Amino acid sequence: MTRLAVTRALRSVPRATILSRPQLPRTPSFRNRAPPSLANYTRRNLSTTARRLSDKDEDEDERKWSTPLAKQLAEAITATGPVPLASFMRMCLTGDIGGYYTGAIEKSEQNRDQFGAAGDFVTSPEISQVFGELCGLWYVTEWLAQGRPSKGVELIEVGPGRGTLMDDMLRTIQNFPEMAKSIDAVYMVEASPQLRIAQKNLLCREDAAMSESKVGYHSHCKYGNIPIVWTETIKSIPYDPEKTPFIMAHEFFDALPIHAFQLVEVHPSSSDSAPASSPVAKITTTSGPKTFKKPSSDTPGGSTLEWRELLVSPTPPFSTHSSLRTPTSQNPHLTPPPDFQLTLSPSPTRHSLYLPDLSPRYRAIKSSSASSSSSTTSQLPDGTSRGGGPGSLIEISPDTYLFATDFATRIGGSPSHPKAQPRGAALILDYGPGDGSVPVNSLRGIRKHHLVSPFAEPGLTDLSADVDFSAIAEAAVNASEGVEVHGPVEQGWLLEGMGGRERVESLVRAGLQTKKGDEEKEKFVEDLRRSWERLVDRGPNGMGRVYKALAIVPENDGRRRPVGFGGDVVM
Ligand code: SAH
Repeated sequence: MTRLAVTRALRSVPRATILSRPQLPRTPSFRNRAPPSLANYTRRNLSTTARRLSDKDEDEDERKWSTPLAKQLAEAITATGPVPLASFMRMCLTGDIGGYYTGAIEKSEQNRDQFGAAGDFVTSPEISQVFGELCGLWYVTEWLAQGRPSKGVELIEVGPGRGTLMDDMLRTIQNFPEMAKSIDAVYMVEASPQLRIAQKNLLCREDAAMSESKVGYHSHCKYGNIPIVWTETIKSIPYDPEKTPFIMAHEFFDALPIHAFQLVEVHPSSSDSAPASSPVAKITTTSGPKTFKKPSSDTPGGSTLEWRELLVSPTPPFSTHSSLRTPTSQNPHLTPPPDFQLTLSPSPTRHSLYLPDLSPRYRAIKSSSASSSSSTTSQLPDGTSRGGGPGSLIEISPDTYLFATDFATRIGGSPSHPKAQPRGAALILDYGPGDGSVPVNSLRGIRKHHLVSPFAEPGLTDLSADVDFSAIAEAAVNASEGVEVHGPVEQGWLLEGMGGRERVESLVRAGLQTKKGDEEKEKFVEDLRRSWERLVDRGPNGMGRVYKALAIVPENDGRRRPVGFGGDVVM
């Protein structure tokens, strides 16, 4: 029923616009592959490493760093001590000096394209135009269901890459002129100046000028001359309770920095931190020593369990892949030995004292671990543990909470941004566990479609981590009483449910009429169908299974489910 209704809506797209999307090699999607265990690059000799660095012995002076960013990071760590994984990731991805998205490292790398066959990874909108068309259609169905507002619609995309997805969505929405006319502005939240230009070139006329204001950069879209605004942060987009924001986040959350923590058993006699029985912990911060209240759990053996943060510090000078035991799954031949490694902080850090206490989900891991003594918990040989107990790991992304809170507030309002009538929707597509579990061991480095060490060649290596969909849902409903969350559902389920297969077949029919020659026709049809199958593949590592979709929509007591999440088209 749902599928038929959406298919009907899709058929009403009058033009079967066929785009030439370069066919990509069928490289497996390494971005969503499980990386090797964190312990593979964890060393526990934190103090030795830190001392080595501060001694500035001859070895250190001669040390060659793999990138200018690596050198800068090492200098910063020498000054302040090992840094949280989130700080490392932020510098590597969006830092001003040689960040993966934001900085050009060398002249030869300046026009480096992260996306596509010649780049590092491939994303769904780059694989098939049908992906973006279905996303565009999803917003059309929300616009229809929310009373077809005649004005005040905003399209907001965070992390728009090359702009391909927004282009496909806008082209599709143009086929629904009433909705197209209701769009006041398109907002692109993009940290990379290079990608901002690529997006402008795709979405605006080639010669369209870009002007700069306090908010960001402005131009006009080739579709209906709609104003487009580029901002570096989502906070620069004004909150307006009269607006209907339609928000898209595709492969964005996986690029947000994470903190990683491990649960350790602290014995009362331990000299690493304040005594376990003490309710306070002393930590060292860049502004001097501070005292914090210490959340801890007693274990049956009298010791306490505490979260300790995994920090990033330099590897010893002259390390090799074999001395660091870089796993073969991280393709050591593709990069020089990692410049950095993870080390377990011997004492609490600012983040370990409050982040794991933020959600009942994290607290539950700790309290269930406390009731199971270390002797009854099955520990993995590397010292970590997945099923609770000492050694358990968790990853927490504060930025994920910030973005989810922002989306929910724009859609549903909040005490600080009241909204009389919740309106709008957010569609979040990414990879991560769909069963409510907290991501562990998920940081990965990607180069040229291969997994590499996330600590090798900082700034040249893409970094990503599993998305915690439950954290997004939790943040959204905590931020706004005006929203409800649906999903996550598997990407294959969403796209099939929205009638994508029928769309592919209608493109096939249109192509067969316009393409010349049997060979060209055959290739066209095969490419189109193969790309589609790749998006919906439900095999163990298939994109249709590994990628998930989550929707944030106006609260309606669960009476109306969004299309693709089990709901019907409301006309
Ligand atoms: N959505 C696109 C691109 C995904 S790659 C696609 O699916 O093809 C991640 C994108 O997010 C890039 O455009 C990158 O520059 C951007 N990005 C990463 N971190 C960001 C941040 N903190 N703020 C804004 N943009 C960011």
